[in-house]
Amino acid sequence: MDDSNDLYIAAAAAAARRSRQARVVWGSRVVTLGGDAPVRVQSMTNTDTVDIVETAIQVKQLAQAGSELVRITVNTPEAAAAVPHIREQLDRMGVDVPLVGDFHYNGHRLLTEFPAMAQALSKYRINPGNVGKGEKKDRQFAQMIEVAARLDKCVRIGVNWGSLDQELLAGLMDANAGRREPWDAQQVMYAALVQSALGSATYARQLGLTPDQIVISCKVSGVQDLVAVYRALARHCDYALHLGLTEAGMGTKGTVASAVALGLLLQEGIGDTIRVSLTPQPGEPRTQEVVVALEVLQALGLRAFNPSVTACPGCGRTTSTVFQVLAKRIDDHLRAMMPTWRARYPGVERLKIAVMGCIVNGPGESKHADIGISLPGTGEAPAAPVFIDGQKALTLRGENIAEDFHRLVEDYIERRFGAR
Ligand code: SF4
Repeated sequence: MDDSNDLYIAAAAAAARRSRQARVVWGSRVVTLGGDAPVRVQSMTNTDTVDIVETAIQVKQLAQAGSELVRITVNTPEAAAAVPHIREQLDRMGVDVPLVGDFHYNGHRLLTEFPAMAQALSKYRINPGNVGKGEKKDRQFAQMIEVAARLDKCVRIGVNWGSLDQELLAGLMDANAGRREPWDAQQVMYAALVQSALGSATYARQLGLTPDQIVISCKVSGVQDLVAVYRALARHCDYALHLGLTEAGMGTKGTVASAVALGLLLQEGIGDTIRVSLTPQPGEPRTQEVVVALEVLQALGLRAFNPSVTACPGCGRTTSTVFQVLAKRIDDHLRAMMPTWRARYPGVERLKIAVMGCIVNGPGESKHADIGISLPGTGEAPAAPVFIDGQKALTLRGENIAEDFHRLVEDYIERRFGAR
């Protein structure tokens, strides 16, 4: 099979990503978005920003889960006043994640009346659809951009179809009606989203922002809509792009829709930061959106965050749930240990473990892993061969197969990734 076309697409995607770059500065640190930097993971708190302790704790949880930028709502004077204290609290806790402020309607006032807040944030998200109406729009947008330019802050011009600039959309609809062959309404909406973002970026540059202080997003809630809009954005600009399916929904639906949409675009080299906008299920931690974002990047082979556990789905050859329990137990343990293992065992995030249910694919899959176990299926002898680095190393038997394999995994990690 000729795969030169695939290679060309991969190279073109990488080149596309490298041509876009922005930077987020906080303290003496700089985080690059786009360029040669890995695709970054972003998340957003759902606490009341006025509650300094709760917000700082959630930012810390999101950062520990792997979020590299965390956005917080800045919607009232009280929230604006709380921001510098949240930053201080995070610094005291040793959480050095940059904070992004989310502004709608009153950002121009808050950013000018609360200079400590403007300074404490590393990036501002401005929604051109919620900046103001009529002649106020440009003036209020300019007020925010002038603060960003003066303080050397990055700005995300974040358009959302739920709050699209209605004056712009109406103008494009009128112009479309005059075409000899009018576009359908959806195409006009796509054009309005892109135009709102890029027109605002052009104005921001006239006001003093440099291209590497600008990130663009145009979020919609439909997968095909998102793909169409971001392909157009990538064709028409060189700004770093923040990617996310807005209002993706809950649980499986939100996870799958986000993974499909982000996967399609990231595969084309489109997207420099991502967020998975999941609605948490009752009792589900906010960090779930970060977990999904990391999984998307790892599944695409763009980044590695956690060791991977390959497990078969089970079938009529498996009479017990032993392998499911073992796979989950290993997976949970690895995730729980990764915050400390990352520093202690450099490279452990690339570890591959297999937990398989029977002889059909068990030995083969286990040989492809760094360490794998093939549990006995129906009718097989009660023995579980373990494969290490592609070779059969030993066979586990008895009641404690799970505990024994667990120990073998830990020994393997210590031997391979521990200090030499
Ligand atoms: S490896 Fe065995 S138990 Fe697992 S799905 Fe395949 S046939 Fe079924």
